[in-house]
Amino acid sequence: VERERVAGWSGPGATADGHPVEILANVQDGSGARAARRTPAQGVGLFRTELCFLDRDTEPTEDEQADIYAEVFDAFEGRKVVLRTLDAGSDKPLRFANHPDEHNPALGVRGIRITTTAPGVLDRQLDAVAAAASRTGATPWVMAPMVATVSEAADFAARVRERGLSPGVMIEVPSAALLADRLLEHLDFLSIGTNDLAQYTMAADRMSPQLAALTDPWQPAVLALVARAAQAGAAASKPVGVCGEAAADPLLACVLAGMGVTSLSCAASAVTGVGARLSSVPMDRCREAAEAVLASDDPVAARAAAAKLLD
Ligand code: PEP
Ligand code: MG
Repeated sequence: VERERVAGWSGPGATADGHPVEILANVQDGSGARAARRTPAQGVGLFRTELCFLDRDTEPTEDEQADIYAEVFDAFEGRKVVLRTLDAGSDKPLRFANHPDEHNPALGVRGIRITTTAPGVLDRQLDAVAAAASRTGATPWVMAPMVATVSEAADFAARVRERGLSPGVMIEVPSAALLADRLLEHLDFLSIGTNDLAQYTMAADRMSPQLAALTDPWQPAVLALVARAAQAGAAASKPVGVCGEAAADPLLACVLAGMGVTSLSCAASAVTGVGARLSSVPMDRCREAAEAVLASDDPVAARAAAAKLLD
């Protein structure tokens, strides 16, 4: 029965009793976006632009960038596309971002922080995004990675709005989750990156297999921050999505929906499984599961509590 339900699900994302939760895809280039368009994904929830330029010695020109962004906008014409500005640094250094030599690159100059080492890169990228948007008629949402303070969010929002685009930030650092309500005074939306939020909440390297139990997205402390950000979004009537690996786990996706998350963005290969599972449970159950998970002491207990209510 489960398999039939998976095969039969074709969107749009909603719980069994019809509460909408958008199901979106994570992509990294035009061909990935075209592949994702063949799934029931309703749009792109995370376009990781830095992955387009990992092999470049020099900054791509505005035209080169605009061509690449336009391919993704075209693939999802008329639909939501959330583009993330360059998340350079840590595990994804870009040679043109002038990263300093750092002892702790994950705690160093990455994401929005490259505005300090490579001033101008962000503005030129935003110009390219605006050019691609006007060329394709798209209205992309644009978000910054690794935002930690209200002033970073406000500064980013001003640069994005100046170009007629809609600004948001990723919630990847606990400080941003704690101040989600104040960030939202400047922004149109938030998107929670649970991979980094787990790394920075648990003080455990997301790349370390020895520490995988600590960076498990079912960690109640990580999910408490997710819930806090989702509540801030609900209070401000602004969308708060999840675009980290947590959104690709069908059981956890239902829990996130119960916390009030308004969209789930995952690898194209996970879209149907997540959408199908969500469509099999009513929102009240998702909310009960969210409460049970937040009251659990560890990831194992959290998973068991959710499975008991949702399976
Ligand atoms: C995340 O941190 O959860 C995220 C979606 O960004 P990335 O995995 O690209 O760091
Ligand atoms: Mg991240």
